[in-house]
Amino acid sequence: MGEGVDARFNSKLREAFGSTPFILTKFDKFMNWVRGSSMFMLQFGIACCSIEMMHTYAVKHDLDRFGAGVPRASPRQADVIIVPGTIVSKFAPRMKRVYDQMPEPKFVVGMGSCTISGGPFQEGYNVIKGAEEVIPVDIHVPGCPPRPEALVYGVAKLQERVANGETSPVTVKPYELEQFGDLDRDELVQHLASQIDEEDLVMRYNWAESP
Ligand code: SF4
Repeated sequence: MGEGVDARFNSKLREAFGSTPFILTKFDKFMNWVRGSSMFMLQFGIACCSIEMMHTYAVKHDLDRFGAGVPRASPRQADVIIVPGTIVSKFAPRMKRVYDQMPEPKFVVGMGSCTISGGPFQEGYNVIKGAEEVIPVDIHVPGCPPRPEALVYGVAKLQERVANGETSPVTVKPYELEQFGDLDRDELVQHLASQIDEEDLVMRYNWAESP
């Protein structure tokens, strides 16, 4: 360590590299690694998928811990736009304008069936049959809506691809999502759930006996 530098500047990475102040690598490889390791998101909610996206940013799933997060309502510093929902024809040009305002290189994660193909509203006269018609999509995360785990997986996949310098679009496959699995169930929620008396539930509906 140089003069005037104290132990606070030590880190696990510093220890791993030892005392050398140099790392030899290819510049492109380094830049891709940096891009993949620190992705700034555009805060951009359209429809019901956005609720799952908010959940992905929130405490339980906490997308930030993967080096991708910090959603801001400005395209100026954003690397990634997650498109979470139904795109109607009146909205599409606005979405394109926001996308155009993002600096290069920029990436798009399409979240949910609506963003991929129009989803349940595909037959709607005013519904765009997929974000791909308006802007290029890098990662497709299927589902209606995809769970937060699926979106975390999709973003992690994007990071991996960016870090490796890969650019072709990818659809995250259901079996991959299965492998990624669910987070452990919260103990407190489990405990509370076990105390619920079904007779006390307010919402009950018996389809079999309904008129
Ligand atoms: S895919 Fe499903 S949850 Fe997502 S915006 Fe469309 S209808 Fe809503």
